[in-house]
Amino acid sequence: MTGVNAAVSVLIKDVKVTKEHRRLRRERKTVRAMVGLYCSHHHGTQGLCGDCSELASYADRRLDLCPYGSDKPSCAKCPIHCYRPDPREKMREIMRFSGPRMLIRHPWLAIMHLLDDRRAPPPLPSVKTRQTSDETPDTDRDKLAP
Ligand SMILES: [Zn+2]
Repeated sequence: MTGVNAAVSVLIKDVKVTKEHRRLRRERKTVRAMVGLYCSHHHGTQGLCGDCSELASYADRRLDLCPYGSDKPSCAKCPIHCYRPDPREKMREIMRFSGPRMLIRHPWLAIMHLLDDRRAPPPLPSVKTRQTSDETPDTDRDKLAP
């Protein structure tokens, strides 16, 4: 019986890990899809134009550095503003444009993103310094103090 139990617990652990990875992978996919929709409409290049692909990589790096990790709330709900003002403004514009279109083009991603939006942000994790990049994250931590 213990063998079965062990097998089950391994299985459960596996499922949890895959689920977490899936969430982050989905988030990256959503961002790419949204930037893609915006770019093909506004810049008309095959694939992403230089600026947009730079922005998409920037978003990827922000996700890598997100202190919430897989517990990440949707960016709209997140109390940490980790984007620099420039890419942030651009991403806002992209979300405004692509948000409604996502439901038609990528309904699954759109619905999952809407569900994520409804989750309350988890409490701030203890500060893990995961900064491997040379960029300074613009976390407004001081403003968060109650
Ligand atoms: Zn573009």
